[in-house]
Amino acid sequence: MLNISGSEQLYREAGAYLPGGVNSPVRAFRAVDRCPVFIDHAKDAYLYDVDGNAYIDYVCSWGPCILGHAHPRVVRAVQKACENGLTYGAPTEKETKLAKLIRACMPSMEVSRLVSSGTEAVMSAVRVARGFTGRDKIIKFRGCYHGHSDGLLVKAGSGALTQSAPDSLGVPADYARQTLVAEYNHPESVERLFAEHPGEIAALLVEPVAANMGVVLPEPGFLSFLREITRDHGTLLIFDEVITGFRLGLGGAQEYFQVTPDLTTLGKIIGGGMPVGAYGGRREIMELVAPAGPVYQAGTLSGNPLATTAGIETLTILRETAGIYEQLDQKAKRLAAAMREAYGERVCVNQAGSLLGMFFTGQRVTDYETATSSDTAAYAAYFGRMIERGIYLAPSQYEAMFVSAAHGEEEIARTCEAVRDAAKPAQAAADKTP
Ligand SMILES: *Cc1c(COP(=O)(O)O)cnc(C)c1O
Repeated sequence: MLNISGSEQLYREAGAYLPGGVNSPVRAFRAVDRCPVFIDHAKDAYLYDVDGNAYIDYVCSWGPCILGHAHPRVVRAVQKACENGLTYGAPTEKETKLAKLIRACMPSMEVSRLVSSGTEAVMSAVRVARGFTGRDKIIKFRGCYHGHSDGLLVKAGSGALTQSAPDSLGVPADYARQTLVAEYNHPESVERLFAEHPGEIAALLVEPVAANMGVVLPEPGFLSFLREITRDHGTLLIFDEVITGFRLGLGGAQEYFQVTPDLTTLGKIIGGGMPVGAYGGRREIMELVAPAGPVYQAGTLSGNPLATTAGIETLTILRETAGIYEQLDQKAKRLAAAMREAYGERVCVNQAGSLLGMFFTGQRVTDYETATSSDTAAYAAYFGRMIERGIYLAPSQYEAMFVSAAHGEEEIARTCEAVRDAAKPAQAAADKTP
């Protein structure tokens, strides 16, 4: 058994000062019924906890660490930036540089605004869409997560899904009413909402690959269907690429699937491990944002020099490293194959580039219904066996597994071995004996 006595003690102490002992719910490991491990440090593909255990990390801080932890170039750039001051509240050249890099990779983001989190990016993009269209309602999909702002905590995924509390207390009903909920991969559910609310829908918001109810890929034609129906109704199409941006490729899901949204939101990878988000799109829309236009949005630490430095360095490395996305994809494919081989018909493994997820269900997972048909107790048992073998997976069935550039041959091979081991019937029987 893994010795995590140091973590256990820190977790007890944290509970006295932080709600649930953590600063973001999924970190508490409640869905897998274990004590969370407290991290001491991280390097490349590994997390090291306070008890000296090392883990091959597939959470990667929930997505940002696509280069692995503490990449020397990113760390050096941030250290150097620190010497020049931590924040100014005044413009810097680096903000333009990051926006330029984003546009070079994602041409639809002609003009973008930097913020400090994905939540902030999405809620601001929705505000701009409302300002642009003069309409109030938005459409989102059941099981898609877009941060924790009021109007978007309706049938959300991720931590909210795990805890079966998709609607948070404290969200005004009047506010939630402006959010219409459709079914991912079900075009007819979208058509119905447009028919029921003609001329009222400002934006349709989607995770182009849903990655907060596990990983669910768009069915062929689904994203282009969303492109067409929104265009027909004068509704803005917003791709929430907080996870998929720079994850599926430099051009994100919009390049991967060749569908161009009106607005895009980014986060996670573009901060290179520091707090950054961004939203952007066509100039005529983004020119509505203050001070250029009447849609207000501001931030004391927006475009923070350390965060933009980490982001610029990370994106630059991604651009300079030939074949990086092909390699990520191959590694994820090897992991997916090992999972399918070990668990067979008992699971469904979905993969897109370095994003993957294994559902404990015999069905093909294509939507919220099939995603939530999975056996979360079986996932919790699997999680336990994997962490005992030094593999750190997302502590919930409904989160993605992220592969980074730092996962080498040895780490992938060890992980495949652990998956095979964890799937053995003897192991399952051992789990049942107390
Ligand atoms: C993580 C996430 C967000 C929220 O980003 P935060 O930085 O956690 O606020 C929004 N949308 C998607 C798709 C995400 O995965």
